[in-house]
Amino acid sequence: MIRKSAAEMSEALTKKEVSAEELAIAHYERIDAVDPKVRAFLYLDRDGALSAAKNVDARRAKGESLAPLAGVPLALKDVMTQKGIPTTCGSKMLEGWRPPYDSTVVTNLKKNGVVILGKTNMDEFAMGSSTENSAFHPTHNPWDLTRIPGGSGGGSSAAISSFEAPLAIGTDTGGSIRQPAAVTGTVGVKPTYGGVSRYGLVAFSSSLDQAGPCARTVLDAALLHEAIAGHDPKDSTSINAPVPKVVDAAKRGDVKGMKIGVIKELQGEGYQKGVLERFNESLEILSGLGAEIVEVSCPSFDYALAAYYLIAPSECSSNLARFDAMRYGLRVGEGSAEEVMNATREAGFGKEVKRRIILGTYALSSGYYDAYYGSAQKVRTLIKNDFENAFTKADVLVSPTAPTTAFKIGEKSNDPLAMYLNDIATIPVNLAGICAMSLPSGLATEDSLPAGFQIMAPAMADDRLYNAGAALERELLAKWGKPILDLAPELI
Ligand code: GLN
Repeated sequence: MIRKSAAEMSEALTKKEVSAEELAIAHYERIDAVDPKVRAFLYLDRDGALSAAKNVDARRAKGESLAPLAGVPLALKDVMTQKGIPTTCGSKMLEGWRPPYDSTVVTNLKKNGVVILGKTNMDEFAMGSSTENSAFHPTHNPWDLTRIPGGSGGGSSAAISSFEAPLAIGTDTGGSIRQPAAVTGTVGVKPTYGGVSRYGLVAFSSSLDQAGPCARTVLDAALLHEAIAGHDPKDSTSINAPVPKVVDAAKRGDVKGMKIGVIKELQGEGYQKGVLERFNESLEILSGLGAEIVEVSCPSFDYALAAYYLIAPSECSSNLARFDAMRYGLRVGEGSAEEVMNATREAGFGKEVKRRIILGTYALSSGYYDAYYGSAQKVRTLIKNDFENAFTKADVLVSPTAPTTAFKIGEKSNDPLAMYLNDIATIPVNLAGICAMSLPSGLATEDSLPAGFQIMAPAMADDRLYNAGAALERELLAKWGKPILDLAPELI
């Protein structure tokens, strides 16, 4: 049962072939068996999950009509608040903090009867591409335990790819849903900015952060997307418009006549050979299905990484100022407020978080503001214009999700720039506020590890991602003869 998709689990629950309680127990058994090696979770809420599951079973027994995902288990990235459940953001700074409220994503999950198994590991405050920046422990890629599961949401991607949960929540500021999906052979979607509420999502970079679905299939991602999306008056940047019909789109999967734009700047030098081979193969498949492939150019993308690494640290230096030893979690030392604050921040924040706070504080300081932050904001507009231009020529745009397959744990941890380069293809989407999906395109020939195919669509056209993604997924599945995770030589 745990190897089924969320949609199949939902069907089995509806037909009463399995109960939500049995499903939760089966997943905890799997977690007990493999998580000592994978280390995807930071916290398991066994009591809460089992009582939520029993509640769903009781409602079903009474004949109530339930939401499609009622009774389906999920793993929650530890950046989202869940009332009474420890929320650390992968940081010592928040160790021991139990939020007094639910994030809107969690409220929506609960309304849908989704069973939250526990909280997943992540890079501290979502800063990183490998989950090695977690203050607690790294998470291991189920395809090869010596490799990273992506980041910052490596706990969520590892949980779904090792069958510890069929669904997970991630957050994507510069790629943290899509790059982990790419390197674990799973599906991840960064919805349009404002499409899913940020209320209760611990802020890293508020103008970029977006929560979204992680799953093993395009349809499962769509079901989760619809469950969590929608307007929220508690988030001033939430979009007040109907949620795009992503489930219908995932069921349609028809690209005939669709114009697909290949972004010239997001391929070539720096991209692994096998990743590009799988990318080109996917393009051929889409073209064979009747899509028209065109090439588009987005010249400002060359500056996207530089702009991101000014904007995100600037916003983080402001957002993380709230961790002052007075309000949440950790408190170290004694003496004046300033002394306690200094000692707590010194002990509570890891190296990467400190690096970003220093970078951001510098970029925002008087005298440098125009040269750094101001210029980065102008580049952001140019990137948005590049996308707008490209979308006059194509309905969706595509690229490899990440330039490489999963790298080894430790390989890039002493070289922040090499780590940052892993997000080269995902970051422009966040800067423009549009939406994108990563789905598996197959295994790179040289290392037999999964590669990711990225589809991008204009703001509020999230349904196009699911339509194109479902078409490609169906053809690839037929080609492989089985789901990509079944191709893993040894999946734990
Ligand atoms: N890896 C990127 C960073 O370190 C993106 C992180 C994210 O999307 N949260 O900022």
